[in-house]
Amino acid sequence: MTNIISREIQLVSRPNGIPTADNFALVQTELEPLQEQQVLVRNLYISVDPYMRGRMNDRKSYVPPFKLGKPLDGGAVGEVIESHAKEFKPGDVVTSNFGWREYFIASPQELHLVNREVQPLSVYLGVLGITGMTAWVGLNLVEVKAGDIIFISGAAGAVGNVAGQLAKLRGCRVIGSAGSLEKVRMLREECGFDVAFNYKTDPILEQLNLAAPDGIDVYFDNVGGETLEAALSALRVHGRIVACGSISGYNDEKPQPGPTNLFNMIAKRLTMKGLIVSDWLDRQSEFEQEVGGYFQAGKLKNQETVVTGIDRAVDAFIGLFDGKNVGKMVVKLN
Ligand code: NDP
Repeated sequence: MTNIISREIQLVSRPNGIPTADNFALVQTELEPLQEQQVLVRNLYISVDPYMRGRMNDRKSYVPPFKLGKPLDGGAVGEVIESHAKEFKPGDVVTSNFGWREYFIASPQELHLVNREVQPLSVYLGVLGITGMTAWVGLNLVEVKAGDIIFISGAAGAVGNVAGQLAKLRGCRVIGSAGSLEKVRMLREECGFDVAFNYKTDPILEQLNLAAPDGIDVYFDNVGGETLEAALSALRVHGRIVACGSISGYNDEKPQPGPTNLFNMIAKRLTMKGLIVSDWLDRQSEFEQEVGGYFQAGKLKNQETVVTGIDRAVDAFIGLFDGKNVGKMVVKLN
């Protein structure tokens, strides 16, 4: 086979504030010939995620920063084109962390086989992928149970809508906040949320108090900032917080001061637990069984926004910070 020409997105400069197209380049490369124990994969869908913004800074965190002049990485679903390893054969569908590129070569240990009968295959970046797993882990982390009143921010985003649907399946009363009327409608009518409100139109705490006059038991935090502050006020005694994400601050050059009402942690004996989904990969098969079961039974919807073409991946990524996605933002490769 002649060598494969692949296009990939590289980070060429580190963003200050909101990333711009100039921080990235679409670069053509030629893959090396396939060696023993290697597999050639063509990506079908790639994921763009808010956490990637943190990796664009030159700062140590729980994952290393992206390198300049190198392809970015991230979640992807692809099809095996050629295999020199017995574990995979052409036509197999796999997930990997080799996103932001059209083709790649990997070892079998870097690939995870998925069922190609499950459609659309982008679901492996959404409810059946890391997104769904983050929602599932978050609910387990603070033992969300029937009867709990749970408030979820970023509710119409990838993790938020799954967390809400799973909480409904557990028998909770579910409240969500999102940034447009259309998203609020989707949460109520398609995802079964009991209440959803637009955090941009009226004060968050006012809307939360209207939705839950006696307070909330759990806050699933995807956004931080003012919404976290409102939730701290609305939580009941012994309430729990899942600290999943804080997108409202990801583009800040200087971190914002914390909530002014943090004393609620003490006064109400609250618990706040942080989560990094990759710590939980040993529970992946349990997640796949439970959440895959809900999906196959039609009890869980995969909400997504699909953008087509690797040349639109950067726009799709930047669009996350402007609320351009409903559900999981995925890029379909031609
Ligand atoms: P989303 O799909 O929710 O991300 C984009 C959405 O965030 C937008 O559509 C927008 O919705 C909302 N948003 C953007 N800017 C703001 C802002 N300033 N204030 C409030 N909302 C904003 O992403 P994910 O579901 O993938 O991730 C959700 C959160 O969870 C993120 O913070 C992410 O980093 C985190 N995460 C954490 C993981 C972990 O292991 N801890 C794993 C995966 C994700 P709107 O229109 O409603 O404003």
